[in-house]
Amino acid sequence: MSILEVKNLSHTYSPNTPFAKEALRDINLSIDRGDFVGIVGHTGSGKSTLVQCLNGLIIPREGDVMVDGVSLKKTKNLKDIRKRVGMVFQYPEYQLFEETVAKDIAFGPKNLGLSADEVKERVEEALDRVQLSQDLKDRSPFELSGGQKRRVAIAGILAMKPSVLILDEPTAGLDPHGRDEILSEINHLYQEGDMTILMVSHSMEEVAKLARRMIVMNHGQVAMDGTPRELFVQGKKLEDLSLTTPQVTKVMEELKSRGADVATDAITLDEAYREIK
Ligand code: ADP
Repeated sequence: MSILEVKNLSHTYSPNTPFAKEALRDINLSIDRGDFVGIVGHTGSGKSTLVQCLNGLIIPREGDVMVDGVSLKKTKNLKDIRKRVGMVFQYPEYQLFEETVAKDIAFGPKNLGLSADEVKERVEEALDRVQLSQDLKDRSPFELSGGQKRRVAIAGILAMKPSVLILDEPTAGLDPHGRDEILSEINHLYQEGDMTILMVSHSMEEVAKLARRMIVMNHGQVAMDGTPRELFVQGKKLEDLSLTTPQVTKVMEELKSRGADVATDAITLDEAYREIK
């Protein structure tokens, strides 16, 4: 059962001006409830524009997006759509501004018109969900580590209880420790099982470890769509990802020489590619 339906979606920035820039062209997608979808592709391929269309930050000029059956174009309640589809932007910690962690997480739920007790409950629950100690509640978010700040920002979105969580480049700019911390956090949220997760990344490798389905964007279109395994095992497909045929052949040969079954061992292929790149 799909929670998001994208139908014939196209988007051009500054249309009918000399600065017109086509960012998405005729996208059709259906995202299942409870899935973990990675959206990958080079810079400028349309990933951010696509996810902004999914929670109504950009209203599609052409085509439509249905969130739980509700049309973005027709709805009179965009606020509800944004509550259902929570978006963690790139570098979300730049949007932390309150003097305490608790106040920052409370910002969204307060705007939902919940009582003080309900807001407090949401804050505590969200901190638990991102596995941060309740002791941090009264600390300034600015005193925390990079990975912790990002978890506070994610908690702020979780406190709105979204059905879909979109994370745009959640590991950007973090050191390896912070990156591992966030990826394991995202995996933990997924394992809890009550949210559909979409994660945007320019790294196939990073997404392939977590996602069940991967969508590869290229020049504003969906270039590939499949399980990580499907995307990695097919030499032709690797080639599509701007690897040259000799590079693909080399990866395949390297793998075979290690006795791997290239038809089934997708992640090994990924690792081999990394090593010989
Ligand atoms: P990605 O997230 O994959 O890097 P984007 O969705 O940000 O890609 O961008 C897709 C295309 O749209 C790019 O060519 C980019 O330069 C252009 N673009 C993105 N945002 C804007 C904007 N606000 N105004 C004009 N062009 C934009």
